[in-house]
Amino acid sequence: MPNFTKTRMLNICEFFISHQGEGRLIGELMYFIRLGGCNLNCIWCDTRYAKYEFKEYRLEEVVAKIKDEWRRGRWICITGGEPLMQENSKRLIEILDRDYKILLETNGSFPIPSFKNVLASMDVKCPSSGEENSTLLSNIELLKERDQLKFVIGTKEDYDYALNIIKKYKPRSAVVFQPQGGLRTRPEDFEWLFKRSKEDSLNVRVILQQHKLVFGGKRGV
Ligand code: SF4
Repeated sequence: MPNFTKTRMLNICEFFISHQGEGRLIGELMYFIRLGGCNLNCIWCDTRYAKYEFKEYRLEEVVAKIKDEWRRGRWICITGGEPLMQENSKRLIEILDRDYKILLETNGSFPIPSFKNVLASMDVKCPSSGEENSTLLSNIELLKERDQLKFVIGTKEDYDYALNIIKKYKPRSAVVFQPQGGLRTRPEDFEWLFKRSKEDSLNVRVILQQHKLVFGGKRGV
């Protein structure tokens, strides 16, 4: 049993079970823990509610809940908001990492701690997000082959920006381009992104957010 010597608290927005809707683990069934609060203000943020809607939980309460509700599950996604804003999220991940496969989704603005098995998904914020200067680019060098670097691409300027970062930092991890479509944009509006990355022979995966195509903007599905 984990040793909880002092009370550690976590702000959590929601818990739910769903198929991962994006990135290299798309389609995997996961238990999602969405931590509350975020230090950024991306223009196209699709989880703005996570910045303000959350409740405080004791760390041991969260661990017990997951052990109870996800007994036979494999993957847990720690997402936000921004999970690394909270000091105790690292401890939560370390405990869960013993029994589960963990995907940590971070906006890339805090140093990414070194975990034993965790798969880190780090965003690089492109110009159309309005948070271009928030990414801690030195994090890219810490990413391992199993991790992923994600660029949400909304415009051709974003594409060129991403290209320059890839050329400069040569990430070891997988690289994912995710069209910034939200609910308003049709997938075919991003034909250019598939074509450009093919013409440029980029070693990247261009992946849409499947949960939005299937469920629209619903939460917790
Ligand atoms: S980092 Fe994520 S949660 Fe925070 S504002 Fe940007 S998109 Fe929203």
